[in-house]
Amino acid sequence: MAATIIDGKEFAGRVRAQVARHVDRLKSDHDITPGLAVVLVGTDPASDVYVRSKGKMTREVGMKSVEHRLDAATSEAELLNLIETLNAAHDIHGILVQLPLPRHINEDLVINAIDPAKDVDGFHISNVGMLSTGQKAMVPCTPLGCLMMLRDHHGSLSGMNAVVIGRSNIVGKPMAQLLLGDSCTVTIAHSRTKDLADVVRRADIVIAAVGRPEMVPGDWIKPGATVIDVGINRLDAPERGAGKTRLVGDVDYESCAAVAGAITPVPGGVGPMTIACLLANTVTACCRANGLSEPEGLTA
Ligand code: NAD
Repeated sequence: MAATIIDGKEFAGRVRAQVARHVDRLKSDHDITPGLAVVLVGTDPASDVYVRSKGKMTREVGMKSVEHRLDAATSEAELLNLIETLNAAHDIHGILVQLPLPRHINEDLVINAIDPAKDVDGFHISNVGMLSTGQKAMVPCTPLGCLMMLRDHHGSLSGMNAVVIGRSNIVGKPMAQLLLGDSCTVTIAHSRTKDLADVVRRADIVIAAVGRPEMVPGDWIKPGATVIDVGINRLDAPERGAGKTRLVGDVDYESCAAVAGAITPVPGGVGPMTIACLLANTVTACCRANGLSEPEGLTA
Protein backbone atom coordinates (compact mmCIF):
# COMPACT_ATOMS: atom_id res chain seq x y z
CA MET A 1 0.00 0.00 0.00
CA ALA A 2 1.28 3.48 -0.83
CA ALA A 3 2.54 5.52 2.11
CA THR A 4 0.44 8.32 3.56
CA ILE A 5 2.06 11.63 2.64
CA ILE A 6 2.35 13.83 5.72
CA ASP A 7 1.60 17.26 4.28
CA GLY A 8 3.74 19.71 6.26
CA LYS A 9 2.61 22.67 4.17
CA GLU A 10 -1.04 22.08 5.03
CA PHE A 11 -0.25 21.33 8.69
CA ALA A 12 1.90 24.46 8.98
CA GLY A 13 -1.06 26.47 7.66
CA ARG A 14 -3.23 25.05 10.47
CA VAL A 15 -0.56 25.88 13.08
CA ARG A 16 -0.25 29.45 11.79
CA ALA A 17 -4.06 29.84 11.85
CA GLN A 18 -4.12 28.66 15.48
CA VAL A 19 -1.31 31.08 16.35
CA ALA A 20 -3.22 33.91 14.62
CA ARG A 21 -6.38 33.14 16.64
CA HIS A 22 -4.38 33.21 19.87
CA VAL A 23 -2.71 36.49 18.88
CA ASP A 24 -6.17 37.99 18.23
CA ARG A 25 -7.28 36.94 21.72
CA LEU A 26 -4.14 38.36 23.34
CA LYS A 27 -4.82 41.67 21.59
CA SER A 28 -8.54 41.87 22.27
CA ASP A 29 -8.61 40.47 25.82
CA HIS A 30 -5.28 41.69 27.20
CA ASP A 31 -4.10 44.46 24.85
CA ILE A 32 -0.87 42.52 24.26
CA THR A 33 0.77 42.06 20.86
CA PRO A 34 3.45 39.33 20.78
CA GLY A 35 6.69 40.64 19.27
CA LEU A 36 9.52 38.78 17.53
CA ALA A 37 12.93 40.35 16.90
CA VAL A 38 15.18 38.76 14.29
CA VAL A 39 18.85 39.74 14.17
CA LEU A 40 20.90 39.22 11.01
CA VAL A 41 24.60 40.00 10.90
CA GLY A 42 26.08 40.29 7.39
CA THR A 43 24.57 39.69 3.98
CA ASP A 44 24.47 35.92 3.48
CA PRO A 45 21.83 35.54 0.70
CA ALA A 46 20.25 32.35 2.15
CA SER A 47 19.96 33.95 5.61
CA ASP A 48 18.47 37.06 4.02
CA VAL A 49 15.71 34.94 2.40
CA TYR A 50 14.97 33.20 5.72
CA VAL A 51 14.80 36.50 7.62
CA ARG A 52 12.46 38.05 5.05
CA SER A 53 10.10 35.11 5.11
CA LYS A 54 10.14 34.97 8.93
CA GLY A 55 9.23 38.68 9.05
CA LYS A 56 6.43 38.28 6.52
CA MET A 57 4.85 35.32 8.31
CA THR A 58 5.20 37.00 11.71
CA ARG A 59 3.20 39.99 10.41
CA GLU A 60 0.65 37.70 8.72
CA VAL A 61 -0.34 36.13 12.06
CA GLY A 62 -0.76 39.60 13.55
CA MET A 63 2.43 39.75 15.61
CA LYS A 64 4.92 42.58 15.74
CA SER A 65 8.03 41.87 13.65
CA VAL A 66 11.30 43.72 14.21
CA GLU A 67 14.35 43.14 12.03
CA HIS A 68 17.86 44.22 13.01
CA ARG A 69 20.18 43.99 10.01
CA LEU A 70 23.75 44.58 11.12
CA ASP A 71 26.89 45.07 9.08
CA ALA A 72 29.17 42.02 8.69
CA ALA A 73 31.88 43.95 10.56
CA THR A 74 29.68 44.41 13.67
CA SER A 75 31.71 43.54 16.75
CA GLU A 76 30.74 40.86 19.25
CA ALA A 77 30.34 43.56 21.92
CA GLU A 78 27.94 45.56 19.71
CA LEU A 79 25.85 42.46 19.07
CA LEU A 80 25.78 41.62 22.79
CA ASN A 81 24.62 45.18 23.51
CA LEU A 82 21.74 44.77 21.09
CA ILE A 83 20.77 41.46 22.72
CA GLU A 84 20.77 43.18 26.12
CA THR A 85 18.46 45.89 24.77
CA LEU A 86 16.09 43.30 23.28
CA ASN A 87 16.14 41.26 26.51
CA ALA A 88 14.88 44.36 28.34
CA ALA A 89 12.28 45.39 25.72
CA HIS A 90 8.75 44.75 27.01
CA ASP A 91 7.22 44.57 23.53
CA ILE A 92 9.64 41.84 22.39
CA HIS A 93 8.81 38.29 23.51
CA GLY A 94 11.02 36.32 21.14
CA ILE A 95 14.60 36.93 19.97
CA LEU A 96 16.18 35.00 17.12
CA VAL A 97 19.76 35.50 16.02
CA GLN A 98 20.11 34.14 12.50
CA LEU A 99 22.98 31.63 12.27
CA PRO A 100 25.66 31.30 11.10
CA LEU A 101 27.32 34.42 12.52
CA PRO A 102 30.55 35.86 11.06
CA ARG A 103 33.64 33.99 12.26
CA HIS A 104 34.86 36.77 14.57
CA ILE A 105 31.73 36.38 16.74
CA ASN A 106 31.40 33.57 19.28
CA GLU A 107 28.01 31.99 18.53
CA ASP A 108 27.67 30.21 21.88
CA LEU A 109 28.36 33.43 23.76
CA VAL A 110 25.69 35.30 21.78
CA ILE A 111 23.05 32.55 22.03
CA ASN A 112 23.61 32.24 25.78
CA ALA A 113 23.26 36.03 26.19
CA ILE A 114 19.61 35.83 25.07
CA ASP A 115 17.10 35.75 27.93
CA PRO A 116 16.12 32.02 27.99
CA ALA A 117 12.45 33.04 28.25
CA LYS A 118 12.80 34.87 24.90
CA ASP A 119 14.98 32.21 23.26
CA VAL A 120 12.42 31.11 20.63
CA ASP A 121 15.05 29.00 18.83
CA GLY A 122 15.52 26.94 22.01
CA PHE A 123 19.32 26.96 21.66
CA HIS A 124 20.17 28.60 25.04
CA ILE A 125 21.99 26.21 27.35
CA SER A 126 19.21 26.61 29.98
CA ASN A 127 16.57 25.53 27.49
CA VAL A 128 18.73 22.59 26.37
CA GLY A 129 19.06 21.55 30.02
CA MET A 130 15.36 22.01 30.75
CA LEU A 131 14.36 19.97 27.70
CA SER A 132 16.70 17.14 28.66
CA THR A 133 15.39 17.09 32.25
CA GLY A 134 11.75 17.12 31.16
CA GLN A 135 11.03 20.68 32.28
CA LYS A 136 9.08 23.37 30.45
CA ALA A 137 11.59 24.62 27.88
CA MET A 138 11.59 26.65 24.70
CA VAL A 139 12.02 23.83 22.17
CA PRO A 140 14.01 24.12 18.90
CA CYS A 141 11.59 24.74 16.03
CA THR A 142 12.53 21.99 13.55
CA PRO A 143 12.31 19.06 15.98
CA LEU A 144 9.17 20.57 17.53
CA GLY A 145 7.57 20.58 14.06
CA CYS A 146 8.58 16.93 13.54
CA LEU A 147 7.09 15.98 16.92
CA MET A 148 3.80 17.75 16.09
CA MET A 149 3.52 15.88 12.79
CA LEU A 150 4.24 12.54 14.49
CA ARG A 151 1.68 13.16 17.23
CA ASP A 152 -0.87 14.27 14.66
CA HIS A 153 -0.33 11.10 12.61
CA HIS A 154 0.01 8.52 15.40
CA GLY A 155 -1.66 9.98 18.47
CA SER A 156 0.49 8.33 21.13
CA LEU A 157 4.14 7.53 20.32
CA SER A 158 4.60 5.54 23.52
CA GLY A 159 6.74 2.42 23.17
CA MET A 160 7.66 3.00 19.52
CA ASN A 161 11.23 2.43 18.34
CA ALA A 162 12.60 5.70 16.98
CA VAL A 163 15.92 6.14 15.18
CA VAL A 164 17.26 9.67 14.74
CA ILE A 165 20.02 9.86 12.12
CA GLY A 166 22.16 12.89 12.98
CA ARG A 167 23.34 14.23 16.34
CA SER A 168 23.47 18.00 15.77
CA ASN A 169 22.54 20.37 18.59
CA ILE A 170 19.79 21.99 16.52
CA VAL A 171 18.03 18.91 15.15
CA GLY A 172 19.28 15.43 16.13
CA LYS A 173 19.84 15.79 19.88
CA PRO A 174 16.69 17.82 20.73
CA MET A 175 14.66 15.50 18.47
CA ALA A 176 15.88 12.51 20.46
CA GLN A 177 14.97 14.26 23.74
CA LEU A 178 11.47 15.03 22.49
CA LEU A 179 10.88 11.44 21.37
CA LEU A 180 12.16 10.21 24.73
CA GLY A 181 9.75 12.64 26.39
CA ASP A 182 6.93 10.95 24.45
CA SER A 183 8.15 7.53 25.69
CA CYS A 184 9.75 6.23 22.51
CA THR A 185 12.75 3.91 22.69
CA VAL A 186 15.31 6.16 21.03
CA THR A 187 18.51 5.42 19.13
CA ILE A 188 20.70 8.25 17.90
CA ALA A 189 22.74 7.26 14.84
CA HIS A 190 25.57 9.36 13.40
CA SER A 191 28.56 9.34 11.09
CA ARG A 192 30.39 6.69 13.17
CA THR A 193 27.41 4.36 13.63
CA LYS A 194 28.15 0.79 12.53
CA ASP A 195 25.62 -1.11 10.40
CA LEU A 196 23.37 1.91 9.99
CA ALA A 197 21.04 0.00 7.64
CA ASP A 198 20.34 -2.60 10.36
CA VAL A 199 19.80 0.10 12.99
CA VAL A 200 17.31 1.92 10.76
CA ARG A 201 15.48 -1.33 9.86
CA ARG A 202 14.44 -1.71 13.51
CA ALA A 203 12.72 1.68 13.59
CA ASP A 204 8.99 2.37 13.69
CA ILE A 205 9.93 6.04 13.31
CA VAL A 206 12.92 7.24 11.26
CA ILE A 207 14.06 10.85 11.49
CA ALA A 208 16.73 11.67 8.90
CA ALA A 209 18.71 14.84 9.74
CA VAL A 210 22.05 14.37 8.05
CA GLY A 211 22.44 16.77 5.13
CA ARG A 212 23.33 14.05 2.57
CA PRO A 213 21.08 13.90 -0.46
CA GLU A 214 18.90 10.76 -0.64
CA MET A 215 21.25 8.69 1.52
CA VAL A 216 18.51 6.51 3.09
CA PRO A 217 17.22 3.94 0.56
CA GLY A 218 13.85 2.17 0.78
CA ASP A 219 15.40 -1.18 1.71
CA TRP A 220 16.54 0.32 5.06
CA ILE A 221 12.93 1.06 6.01
CA LYS A 222 10.80 -1.37 8.02
CA PRO A 223 7.48 -1.89 6.19
CA GLY A 224 4.88 0.50 7.59
CA ALA A 225 7.39 2.76 9.40
CA THR A 226 6.96 6.52 9.54
CA VAL A 227 9.73 8.48 7.84
CA ILE A 228 10.38 12.13 8.69
CA ASP A 229 12.87 13.72 6.31
CA VAL A 230 14.52 16.82 7.77
CA GLY A 231 17.22 17.13 5.11
CA ILE A 232 17.22 19.99 2.63
CA ASN A 233 19.74 19.46 -0.15
CA ARG A 234 19.90 21.42 -3.39
CA LEU A 235 20.98 19.46 -6.46
CA ASP A 236 21.66 20.62 -9.99
CA ALA A 237 18.74 19.81 -12.28
CA PRO A 238 19.91 20.36 -15.87
CA GLU A 239 16.81 18.44 -17.07
CA ARG A 240 14.77 21.47 -15.90
CA GLY A 241 16.89 23.88 -17.90
CA ALA A 242 20.30 25.52 -17.70
CA GLY A 243 21.30 26.54 -14.18
CA LYS A 244 18.14 25.04 -12.60
CA THR A 245 18.21 23.19 -9.27
CA ARG A 246 15.86 20.98 -7.26
CA LEU A 247 15.51 20.20 -3.56
CA VAL A 248 15.80 16.69 -2.19
CA GLY A 249 15.80 15.33 1.32
CA ASP A 250 18.08 12.87 3.12
CA VAL A 251 15.88 9.92 2.14
CA ASP A 252 15.34 8.52 -1.31
CA TYR A 253 11.67 9.50 -1.51
CA GLU A 254 10.42 7.08 -4.19
CA SER A 255 11.90 3.90 -2.74
CA CYS A 256 11.10 4.86 0.88
CA ALA A 257 7.50 5.85 0.07
CA ALA A 258 7.01 2.40 -1.49
CA VAL A 259 7.73 0.70 1.88
CA ALA A 260 6.87 3.27 4.58
CA GLY A 261 3.47 3.68 6.21
CA ALA A 262 3.84 7.48 6.17
CA ILE A 263 6.46 9.91 4.89
CA THR A 264 7.14 13.65 4.70
CA PRO A 265 8.04 15.04 1.25
CA VAL A 266 10.83 17.51 0.48
CA PRO A 267 9.90 20.24 -0.14
CA GLY A 268 6.58 20.59 1.67
CA GLY A 269 7.26 18.46 4.75
CA VAL A 270 9.38 19.54 7.71
CA GLY A 271 10.49 22.86 6.17
CA PRO A 272 7.17 24.78 6.42
CA MET A 273 6.66 23.46 9.97
CA THR A 274 9.89 25.10 11.15
CA ILE A 275 8.72 28.70 10.65
CA ALA A 276 5.23 27.82 11.92
CA CYS A 277 6.86 26.53 15.12
CA LEU A 278 8.91 29.72 15.45
CA LEU A 279 5.64 31.67 15.49
CA ALA A 280 4.15 29.14 17.93
CA ASN A 281 7.17 29.53 20.23
CA THR A 282 6.85 33.33 20.12
CA VAL A 283 3.19 33.27 21.17
CA THR A 284 4.04 30.68 23.85
CA ALA A 285 6.87 32.90 25.16
CA CYS A 286 4.50 35.88 25.23
CA CYS A 287 1.87 33.93 27.19
CA ARG A 288 4.46 32.67 29.69
CA ALA A 289 5.90 36.17 30.15
CA ASN A 290 2.43 37.48 30.99
CA GLY A 291 1.29 34.52 33.11
CA LEU A 292 -1.46 33.66 30.60
CA SER A 293 -2.58 30.25 29.35
CA GLU A 294 -0.66 28.93 26.35
CA PRO A 295 -2.22 27.76 23.08
CA GLU A 296 -2.87 24.01 23.23
CA GLY A 297 -0.83 21.53 21.21
CA LEU A 298 1.84 24.01 20.16
CA THR A 299 4.46 23.03 22.73
CA ALA A 300 6.18 19.81 23.70
P1 NAD B 1 24.74 18.91 10.83
O1 NAD B 1 25.70 18.91 9.69
O2 NAD B 1 24.96 19.82 11.97
O3 NAD B 1 24.63 17.43 11.40
C1 NAD B 1 24.60 16.32 10.55
C2 NAD B 1 24.63 15.06 11.38
O4 NAD B 1 24.61 13.96 10.48
C3 NAD B 1 25.90 14.91 12.22
O5 NAD B 1 25.52 14.69 13.55
C4 NAD B 1 26.62 13.68 11.66
O6 NAD B 1 27.14 12.83 12.67
C5 NAD B 1 25.52 12.96 10.91
N1 NAD B 1 26.06 12.28 9.74
C6 NAD B 1 26.89 12.77 8.79
N2 NAD B 1 27.17 11.81 7.89
C7 NAD B 1 26.52 10.70 8.29
C8 NAD B 1 26.43 9.38 7.77
N3 NAD B 1 27.06 9.02 6.67
N4 NAD B 1 25.68 8.50 8.44
C9 NAD B 1 25.01 8.84 9.56
N5 NAD B 1 25.05 10.08 10.08
C10 NAD B 1 25.79 11.00 9.46
O7 NAD B 1 23.31 19.13 10.14
P2 NAD B 1 21.92 19.68 10.78
O8 NAD B 1 22.02 21.12 11.05
O9 NAD B 1 21.45 18.75 11.84
O10 NAD B 1 20.98 19.50 9.51
C11 NAD B 1 20.74 18.24 8.93
C12 NAD B 1 19.93 18.41 7.66
O11 NAD B 1 18.69 19.00 8.00
C13 NAD B 1 20.54 19.39 6.63
O12 NAD B 1 20.19 18.94 5.33
C14 NAD B 1 19.85 20.69 6.91
O13 NAD B 1 19.78 21.53 5.76
C15 NAD B 1 18.49 20.19 7.29
N6 NAD B 1 17.73 21.11 8.14
C16 NAD B 1 16.45 21.35 7.78
C17 NAD B 1 15.66 22.17 8.57
C18 NAD B 1 14.25 22.39 8.15
O14 NAD B 1 13.63 23.35 8.56
N7 NAD B 1 13.66 21.48 7.39
C19 NAD B 1 16.18 22.78 9.70
C20 NAD B 1 17.49 22.48 10.08
C21 NAD B 1 18.25 21.63 9.29
